[in-house]
Amino acid sequence: VFERANGFDEIKRIIERIDSERDGYDFLIDGAVVKVNDFALREKLGYTDKFPRWAIAFKFKAEEVVTRLLDVGWQVGRTGKITPLALLSPVELCGATIKRATLNNAGDIERKGLCVNCDVYVRRSNDVIPEVLGIAERFPDSVPVEKAEFCPSCGARLEERGANLFCPNRSDCPKQVEGRLTHFCSKNGFDIEGIRDKTARQFMNIGVRSPADLFSLDEEKIKTLDKFKDKKASKLVDAIKKSKDVKLANFIYALGIDNVGSVTAKELAEKFGSVDALRAATKEQLLEIDDVGEIVAESITEWFSEPFNGALTDRLKAEGIDPHYENKTVRGAFSGKRVVLTGSLENFTRSKASELIEERGGTVSSSVSASTDLVIAGSEAGSKLEKAEKLGIEIIDENKFIEMLQSD
Ligand SMILES: [Zn+2]
Repeated sequence: VFERANGFDEIKRIIERIDSERDGYDFLIDGAVVKVNDFALREKLGYTDKFPRWAIAFKFKAEEVVTRLLDVGWQVGRTGKITPLALLSPVELCGATIKRATLNNAGDIERKGLCVNCDVYVRRSNDVIPEVLGIAERFPDSVPVEKAEFCPSCGARLEERGANLFCPNRSDCPKQVEGRLTHFCSKNGFDIEGIRDKTARQFMNIGVRSPADLFSLDEEKIKTLDKFKDKKASKLVDAIKKSKDVKLANFIYALGIDNVGSVTAKELAEKFGSVDALRAATKEQLLEIDDVGEIVAESITEWFSEPFNGALTDRLKAEGIDPHYENKTVRGAFSGKRVVLTGSLENFTRSKASELIEERGGTVSSSVSASTDLVIAGSEAGSKLEKAEKLGIEIIDENKFIEMLQSD
């Protein structure tokens, strides 16, 4: 929907009209974007660090309805996390019939004091996934929601960690195995055609528990599966072999870290350049990425700290999988180098120096680790310099840095 407006009053009128008409659209929207259409003026307004000053998003107030909470179901995902799902008395919301809504986690249910057979407020957060906001009314037959005790997939006794419940049966819980395999083989992951939602689970019958097990499967074994007779089995063996030549971003996505989708995976690949560097990344280093906030950074460090996940990464490496990453920047004096700046430079600000390094193919990180290739030390360099010396990392001064820049 496009509209041209003259001045603020008209902008306001148009936004209000879109809001009142949007239920009738064939698509879901949660807001409108106001943009300056004069290109010369756009140029003048310019950008902040991250956003243009000539465009701004207006979010509509999310629509809310009240309906009956009939029951709560529990689902187990690929990380073992148990997600409660509200089963609702069907209700119209934003032009769709809603029967289910997310409840985030077990702690969320307790905090909201939800009961089976009570009325709840439901909202479409970002107008896409419906969410139960809280209790609207309790009735005599309302009973508190009982927290799940056992895994709905494997029957294991659940563990409580913070606000979440987890199935501890990491390697043998069918739903977890299925979830991990499907995610691993998906288009943004290893892209192994043939292993999709419906086929993944039967691979458990031939001993597959971890995605890493796929790489030791042979044709004979695969042929014993219902859906993989004859040619299909050999095709799958080929596809698995071919998938080993994987891009770093796809590899990171395939690991199945909570809150790391394909966009974040790409950014992580760009920033860290290798699996080892990502694995060693601190929360602070992760937070340096624009789109990575506290929750995502924590998901990543927590994921790698769990031995079960570390084992997957190690086994993929042992299978000879060496994900490749092509730096988009031109080859230059710092090509492929991980550089740390410390102390103060006379001729450059920290951000200017970083920019120059990045333009020449290097990546700049804020702390020294075993994966650092080069440290540029200005005056009054402190603990980072000491650490670099200890680790035997190449250290250069500002003059040498200027020389390297000029050599390019
Ligand atoms: Zn389970």
